[in-house]
Amino acid sequence: MIVKEVQAKSVLTKSKLPVADYVVNAYTGCPHKCIYCYAEFMKRFTNHNEEWGEFIDIKLFDKIRIPKDIENKNITISSVTDPYNQYEIKYEKTKHVLEVLKNINCNTGILTKSKNVLRDIELFKQFKHIEVGVSLNTVDDNFRKLIEPAASTVEERINVLKTLKAHNIKNWMFISPMFPFLSDYKKIIERTKDFTDYYGFENLNLRAGYKFRVLKLIELKYNNLYKYYKDIYAKDGVFFWSGLEKEIITYCKDNNINYKMYFYHEKIKKK
Ligand code: SF4
Repeated sequence: MIVKEVQAKSVLTKSKLPVADYVVNAYTGCPHKCIYCYAEFMKRFTNHNEEWGEFIDIKLFDKIRIPKDIENKNITISSVTDPYNQYEIKYEKTKHVLEVLKNINCNTGILTKSKNVLRDIELFKQFKHIEVGVSLNTVDDNFRKLIEPAASTVEERINVLKTLKAHNIKNWMFISPMFPFLSDYKKIIERTKDFTDYYGFENLNLRAGYKFRVLKLIELKYNNLYKYYKDIYAKDGVFFWSGLEKEIITYCKDNNINYKMYFYHEKIKKK
């Protein structure tokens, strides 16, 4: 792992994401090495030639510039790294930003795949509006190891949700990205519904360079599914995903599960 400390102009930037007005990324790169990581595009903007997952820049900043219009805005931590990756233990860059945000009237949302988030529970309690999300797309830790080799285990992430709930911190589970035929959302919900405030669902997007990596894994490890994956992604997935979306909505309604859908809406609407 190549670790560098780099001076940063800002770690809080305006966002075009539909769910966030601003995003915080205190690191460039991410050691979790998820094979489907769309954040790999950051290499282009930061002059990195290394493999994604093999480098991390620790952003040094003296002062966090807070935009004037930040009141009541949605802040997402983080969008292109994991804010609680293992380097956060030593460098505390995410924590530093949270120490500033806790005094501002905004809606802070954290999203992670790391058990390290539990370190900051007492800090979360000082926020007026905060929610902590955990991403998980399987209850099978062998599959998890293949797709998210350096992130926390399935049990560790479930424990994060349980612990947050025990401390009355609003939590949610992001079932993302959903791998066709492999992400058993019902099993995940069954395991976690007693201590999870709501669920988000997002399809596996294979638009970028990681398409090859994901399809290669399916071919090697889940060969019986390979032809279905090829078919789904050759047709852009709209038919498959719109069917699954309807199924999830019905399941959530029937079982009184709070949910939000993040499937590719523009394409599905066109149908
Ligand atoms: S945790 Fe998020 S940013 Fe990090 S490698 Fe995985 S998908 Fe990418």
